[in-house]
Amino acid sequence: MEIICQWINGEYYEGNPDGEVEIENPATGKIVRKAQLTSQEDLEYAVKVARKAQEEWRNISLAKRVDIMFKMRQLLLDNQDKMAKLIVEEHGKTYGDAIGEIQRGRETIDFACGINANLKGEMSYNISTRVDIHTIRQPLGVVGGICPFNFPAMVPMWMHPLALATGNAFILKPATTTPSASLFTAELYKQAGLPDGLFNVVIGDVPVVQGMLNHDGIDAISFVGSTPVARIVQETGIANGKRVQALGGANNHAIVMPDADLEFAAEHISAAAFGAAGERCMALPVVVAVGGTGEKLAELVAKHARNITVGSGMNENTDMGPVITADAKKRIIGLIDSAEKAGAKIVLDGRDHVVEGFEGGHFLAPTIVTDVPLDNELYTNEVFGPVLTIVAAKDYEEAIKIVNAQPFGNGSAIFTNDGGMARRFTQEVEAGMVGVNVPIPTPVAYYSFGGWKNSLMGDTHIHGPEGVKFYTRAKAITTRWPSESGAYQATMSFERDEE
Ligand code: NAD
Repeated sequence: MEIICQWINGEYYEGNPDGEVEIENPATGKIVRKAQLTSQEDLEYAVKVARKAQEEWRNISLAKRVDIMFKMRQLLLDNQDKMAKLIVEEHGKTYGDAIGEIQRGRETIDFACGINANLKGEMSYNISTRVDIHTIRQPLGVVGGICPFNFPAMVPMWMHPLALATGNAFILKPATTTPSASLFTAELYKQAGLPDGLFNVVIGDVPVVQGMLNHDGIDAISFVGSTPVARIVQETGIANGKRVQALGGANNHAIVMPDADLEFAAEHISAAAFGAAGERCMALPVVVAVGGTGEKLAELVAKHARNITVGSGMNENTDMGPVITADAKKRIIGLIDSAEKAGAKIVLDGRDHVVEGFEGGHFLAPTIVTDVPLDNELYTNEVFGPVLTIVAAKDYEEAIKIVNAQPFGNGSAIFTNDGGMARRFTQEVEAGMVGVNVPIPTPVAYYSFGGWKNSLMGDTHIHGPEGVKFYTRAKAITTRWPSESGAYQATMSFERDEE
C-alpha cells in the first residue's frame, strides 16, 4: 500500500507524522493509499521554511515570478491527464469533470501570469509643493490555504497562484480525502523553478487547521468549505490577528418564469443539479417554478436525468460518479427520506441505485422531489448530492421572497425570455454570483468569485482583482524633495565635463 506524506521545503518530507489516514476510491469503496498526518512539530517546520523563503521571494522581480507562472501553466497543461486521474481516483467525479476543474483552476494561473499588469499602485504628483504620494501593494508574508474535498485541484488554484505571484509563501492544507492533486501541484511548482519553501502541503484535519489558525507565523488564511467550519476559521483566525477570507456552503436556487424556454431550462437544470453528483458549491439543488410550470418542468428534467449514466468516473460513458463517502450517501438518503415522510412527492428516485461491478461504491442516481415543505431538512440543509427540489411559487414576487429568505447566497439564476424581468432579478437577488439563463454562474478567474450571507465570511471574494487585494496590503508613501537642484545637477555637469 502506497503511503504518501506532506511536502515541505521543496520535497516530500516524512518528518514526525501524527498517525495516518486512509484514502478511499469512492467508486469502489476500496482504500487506494494512506497519507501520513502532519504533526504540530512538522507544521512548525513548514512555517519556518516558508517564512525564510518568503524573505527572498518578496524581493524577486515581477518578471521572474511571471516567468515561473508561465512555466507552471505549461506544466499543468502537459500533466493534466495524470492530475485528472488522481482526482477521479480519490474524488470519484468523471474524468471529463476532472479535466474541466483543472482548466478552470488554470485560469487563475493565467491571471497570475499577468500579475505585473495587476499589481500597480497609484501616484499623485505635487500634492503639496514638491510633495508627491504613491501607493504600492506588498505581500502579507505566509498565507495558509484550507480546502474542501470537492475540487481537489481547482479550489487550491483559486488561491496559490495569486498568493505566490504577489510575493507570499503558501502552506496548503487539502481535504484528507483528496490530497494527491495538491502534492502533484507541489511537484509541478518545483519543476517550474519555484524556490523551495514557498509552496508547502500539509495533511490533516482539525488539529492541523487549528495549528495553522493559532500560528503567529501565518499571516492570512484563505478557506473554502462548509459554513460551520468557515465560521470557526474566520472567528479563530481574526481573533489571532490574521487576515481571513472564508467561503462557506451554498443552497443555490434558480427561478423558472412561465415565459422561459422550458426545454432549454430543463436540460441546463439537469446538468447543474446532477453534474459532479451535485457536489459543487455552485450546483443547483433548488428550482422555484413560477406560475404552475413545476409539473411540466419536473417531467422535462426527469427526461434528461434518466439519460444520465451513473458509474465509475474513469469509464468514458459515465456522466455522473459516486458521492464522496458512505456517510455522505447515508446522509443524503436520510434527507430524501425525511422529505418523503413530510409528504413530498419523489418524481425520480435514485436512492437504491447499484452500479454493476462497483457494488462497494457510494452511488446514488439523480433524484427529483416536489412538494417539499419549506421547513423540511431536505430544503433547509445543503444536500451536496444529486437531488433536485422543485418548489412552486404563484408569481415572481413570491419566488424572489423564497430565494432571498434562505440563509445562503452563493449563486442564483433566473430562466426567462423577458429582459426587464431578468434585470429586476439581477438587482433584487441576494447572492454573490448571478446567472440569466446560466444556472451555474461561476465567474471566470479575471473576475472574483464569492457569495453573500452564509456563503462567505469576510470582505473579499477569492481570485481575480479581489484576490490580488486579499494577498497584499497597501502602503502609501509621501515624498518631499526640498530642492530640485543639488547632487543630480552636479552629476549632470560632471558628466558633461567628462565628455
Ligand atoms: P468541510 O467544511 O468539511 O472541510 C473543509 C476543510 O476544513 C477541510 O480541509 C477540512 O479538513 C477542514 N475541517 C473540517 N472540519 C473542520 C473543523 N471542525 N475545524 C477545522 N477544520 C475543519 O467541507 P467539505 O465537506 O470538504 O467540502 C464541502 C463543502 O465546501 C460544502 O459545504 C461546499 O458548499 C463547500 N464549498 C464551498 C465553495 C465556495 O466557493 N463557497 C467551494 C467549494 C466547496
